[in-house]
Amino acid sequence: MSSSTRTTPVLQYTPIDEIPKIHEHLKATYNSGRLRPLEYRKQQLLRLIHLVEDNYARFEETFKVDLGRHTLEVAAAELNNIVTDLMYLHDNFETWAQPQKPGFNLKFWAFNPVIRRVPKGVVLVVGPFNYPLLSTLCFLVTAIATGNACIVKMSELTPNVSSALTELLPRYLDKDLFRIVNGGIPETTAVLQLQWDHIVFTGSPAVARIIAAAAAKHLTPTTLELGGQCPVFCDPKMDMYLTARRLLWSKSLNAGQTCTTVNHIFVPYEAQDALAEAFARVYNEFFPEGPEKAAISTLVTDVAFKRIKGLLEKTKGEVVCGGQWEEGRRFIAPTVLKNVTVDDVVMESELFGPILPIVPIKDFQGAIDWTNSHSHPLAVYAFTDDPKFKEYVFNNTHSGQFVVNDTNIQAAIPTLPFGGVGESGYGMVKGHYIFDTLSHLRATCESPRFVDMVMGWRFPPYTVSRIRA
Ligand code: NAD
Repeated sequence: MSSSTRTTPVLQYTPIDEIPKIHEHLKATYNSGRLRPLEYRKQQLLRLIHLVEDNYARFEETFKVDLGRHTLEVAAAELNNIVTDLMYLHDNFETWAQPQKPGFNLKFWAFNPVIRRVPKGVVLVVGPFNYPLLSTLCFLVTAIATGNACIVKMSELTPNVSSALTELLPRYLDKDLFRIVNGGIPETTAVLQLQWDHIVFTGSPAVARIIAAAAAKHLTPTTLELGGQCPVFCDPKMDMYLTARRLLWSKSLNAGQTCTTVNHIFVPYEAQDALAEAFARVYNEFFPEGPEKAAISTLVTDVAFKRIKGLLEKTKGEVVCGGQWEEGRRFIAPTVLKNVTVDDVVMESELFGPILPIVPIKDFQGAIDWTNSHSHPLAVYAFTDDPKFKEYVFNNTHSGQFVVNDTNIQAAIPTLPFGGVGESGYGMVKGHYIFDTLSHLRATCESPRFVDMVMGWRFPPYTVSRIRA
């Protein structure tokens, strides 16, 4: 890492008294109709794609400083996904924006019913630290495509990524319509006092409650993208090597700070040792010189580091592999535990760190009952080649997504809806789902003159003979 990167200035917070002025300014520009033409939206969209592509190297460096993330991981899990989403939207939004005929209805066809997707106004996007660009730019780009002005509140926990985007955005986009606001709780509180036309929040369920309560004061519609304890149900007949490879990757990616990562694995007692042995083998393949020397992300803050280290100290689970830490750089090795019980400290809430507990079980029904007695997770994963097992897990659990034999991958598929259920959030994002979320589906119809010949009965004076006629 170059010394110039290390001396990147800390994030400049937006002065609190500026926040309402920025909001007013964007509202005025939105009301001027500048974003109505699809051509203007397309031009802004292309500029956003250029912003990402022109500045790949700079973003990779900032991710290294803020999250200790390897260049390859930043490209694969963050920047490439952004470009895929941006391109998909760029290629499709003009079609989605066209007026749409609803299904044919003989009784009302003459009224020419049409759905017109119109912008909502000024959209607020509040982002998390773990995917600071992916979780903000993908909504900013949809705001552009749907014709909304947008303010993005970046996470203060990734100051270098946030300050790079804050500096770059006005160089590429129309700053009268798209702006970034930076800050911590006081600045976000000031932002939340304003009246928005839609809020997209990505973060924890605890903060989501603050966002939803603030939005309720103005009856603002919200989309909440949250987290949870995503379980794996592992069929004892499954290929354990494949399972361990995919799950250790999931837990190593961004040091387990990924909303869709596996939280814990349920596996029958008799298969636990085979799975643990597979993890030990894969661990050596992934990190041949030991995890400390490998390109593994670090934890975002000292608080996060202490929380995960504390869990490792308190757990009654046995370490299968990992367990090392280095306080100075907030590093904790991906750590697989076995013989973890559901009342263990690591099972209390979303881990959001590099600990992977294996929970041996007597039967799957008990594991499913435990899962259903807790908050609905963002995703449920089944590792199996057995179609009956797959259907059993699908039919007996609730979650935002359901994936067989992999994790995280569902978030990268631009054509699938992505969103939580219950405590893992509400509202669908991705592709045309988020396009519809940030649009108002304005219903229109036109009444032709001849209709009165067949519907003249509706006009007063009402008489029994006319109604029966
Ligand atoms: P967080 O809830 O702590 O913070 C998110 C945002 O809220 C930040 O911009 C922060 O500044 C702001 N904020 C924090 N406290 C606030 C307060 N008291 N009042 C107003 N605003 C406040 O979340 P995080 O730690 O940045 O991210 C981790 C969480 O996000 C995890 O739970 C993870 O599962 C979830 N997540 C979900 C998705 C998804 O797509 N479903 C994606 C990424 C992260």
